[in-house]
Amino acid sequence: MSTPAAEPAPTALSADNPLAEVSTLPHRLPPFTDLTLEHCREALLAGMAQQRAEVAAIAGSEAPATFDNTVVALERSGALLRRAQAVFYALSSSNSSDRLREIEREVAPLSAAHADALRLDPQLFARIDAVHDQVQAGDHGLDPEAVRLVERYHLDFVLSGARLDEAGRDRLRELNQQLSRLSTTFGQNLVVATEAAAVLVTDRAQLAGLSDAEVEAAGVAATERGREGYLLTLVLPSGQPAMAKLHDRELRRRLHEASVTRASAGEHDNGPVAAEIAHLRAVRARLLGFDTHADLVAADQTAGTSAAVDELLATLVTPAVRNARAEGEVLAELAEADGVELAAWDWAYYSEQVRRDRYAVDTTALRPFFELDRVLVDGVFHAARLLYGYTFTPRPDLPGYHPDVRVWEVSDAAGEPVGLYLGDFFARDGKRGGAWMSSFVSQSRLLGTVPVVFNVMNVTRAAAGQPTLLTLDEVTTLFHEFGHTLHGLSSSVTYPRFSGTSVPRDFVEFPSQVNEMWALWPEVLDHYARHTGTGEPLGREVVAAIEAAALWGEGHATLEYLAATLLDQAWHRIGPDTVVEDPQAFEAAALEAAGVAYDLVPPRYRTTYFQHVFSGGYAAGYYSYIWSEVLDADTVEWFKANGGLTRANGDAFRDKLLSRGGSVDPIGAFRDVVGHDPDPAPLLARRGLG
Ligand SMILES: [Zn+2]
Repeated sequence: MSTPAAEPAPTALSADNPLAEVSTLPHRLPPFTDLTLEHCREALLAGMAQQRAEVAAIAGSEAPATFDNTVVALERSGALLRRAQAVFYALSSSNSSDRLREIEREVAPLSAAHADALRLDPQLFARIDAVHDQVQAGDHGLDPEAVRLVERYHLDFVLSGARLDEAGRDRLRELNQQLSRLSTTFGQNLVVATEAAAVLVTDRAQLAGLSDAEVEAAGVAATERGREGYLLTLVLPSGQPAMAKLHDRELRRRLHEASVTRASAGEHDNGPVAAEIAHLRAVRARLLGFDTHADLVAADQTAGTSAAVDELLATLVTPAVRNARAEGEVLAELAEADGVELAAWDWAYYSEQVRRDRYAVDTTALRPFFELDRVLVDGVFHAARLLYGYTFTPRPDLPGYHPDVRVWEVSDAAGEPVGLYLGDFFARDGKRGGAWMSSFVSQSRLLGTVPVVFNVMNVTRAAAGQPTLLTLDEVTTLFHEFGHTLHGLSSSVTYPRFSGTSVPRDFVEFPSQVNEMWALWPEVLDHYARHTGTGEPLGREVVAAIEAAALWGEGHATLEYLAATLLDQAWHRIGPDTVVEDPQAFEAAALEAAGVAYDLVPPRYRTTYFQHVFSGGYAAGYYSYIWSEVLDADTVEWFKANGGLTRANGDAFRDKLLSRGGSVDPIGAFRDVVGHDPDPAPLLARRGLG
């Protein structure tokens, strides 16, 4: 096999490349049927060259800098690259392969260099700075979205090093290259190590506690990998769903150990990779004039400073630890009755017992009420219709990027087209863990585009001929991810930089978390939660029990989340002179120092599989979920106080907030809807931390 670096980078596209032109499919859906990985590679490389030429023309222009010839021109640039990236990154997350990973390794440093070439071009920055000066002087005639765009570009460039001298810019380029390579390595190690850590069971009896369908699915997973027996594959967080059900304690221990030690030794050890990433980020932050990487990140968020982040987290740690330990005591008693000293791998199992015995909620018995398609169509889509007037029409004629992907056309209450929605729900090899939303096309009036957005989940596929049943957690996740989708679909902005979910990271989880509230809303639940066998609805008393049980487990959930958040903060509060030699010891010390070390409750993610922060976009930003939840809990109270699930409420939330994307001050948009500043009291009450 030839080394990719030795091949000349194509700067033009071959005539048959389907990415060469704007897609002619409805709403510019990418033409997946005709698309190969080699097309993607070629379009990525040519797309970068093309944008480089476009930007050179903007930067080198003789005409005095104006909003249109500089900022708007930049917004228009890079059309080919945008098309190629949208497709390639969707495939790299959901449909990876050896060849794709090879292209990823080739392209990642080139992309980083490309971003730097733009952000570190002194001629270009001089023009942006000039437009920024005009705006500051009040000398413009621009509308508020345009003014905000200028400010946004200016800050993007400054935070990316545009003000550095030449030596500083060189150093920054070098750091970005190294970081890009290391993030790719981290993600790839994790995929391979997670697959390798799947737990093989040869004796079916050991799987007692799992349903027949789950056992069959484990059998299919083993067969697919050419193994005999049953394979329990790992999901991304520390906790594995099967841990709540497996009666065999030794198997629970094996599954737990496999989960929390993945990618922590051998060829795919992510410990040193994470340490190196944290070190280089600290060096880069100092170069850009910040104390730490966490400070650099906070400067660009609604939080503003890492002190503000600390303040919120500090109010949560003590009550969360107290509640988790109280839960632990209840569980230890139950375990003792079985002659067992409670360990981390027993927690979910006995916790499930409490839910069943004390609150009469048997989460396993709930699953037949949550059939995937019913939840999606009669639940998620139904709520979106009642709130926002959206309708969803299946388009089986439109192809996705994998046979599992389904496409829907979205229309508004007047029957006008809104965009497309794609769903890719089943777990498979080559798909990373977790659930997410992303876009193939972002809405923009400037570019004349409407949204084409998609959701990805990792639901275990049922055996052939059986309905796919979700857990209550998966139902909530589907509503959550669809909340991001609604943010993307509702977008009504001029500039692509502000489209849909292009908001600060500590705000982006807010609309998605709000959408979770409809999962158990009586009107919605009655519509989707029907028993697959008998068609009977989920009884009112069951729903009441679920709600009564909602606080049970919040101590554990809050603590495991806070532990991961504080671990993320610790890694990104180190100074540029710190090189962590022993990542495991660093992790243990960080958890101890933050007051969240509790051996029965490991962090939701440990360092070596903390993908969000070492190979996703959440470095020093994992706190965002709870930050957003303050806004979420406050907004849920607002919906309830105003009559709940109504078009009027939905329209207000969409028009004042969802549709604005990043084009207005996010906290201002929140205030517009709710009528006051964010108040943490509803969050504390919801999590039992008051
Ligand atoms: Zn989310």
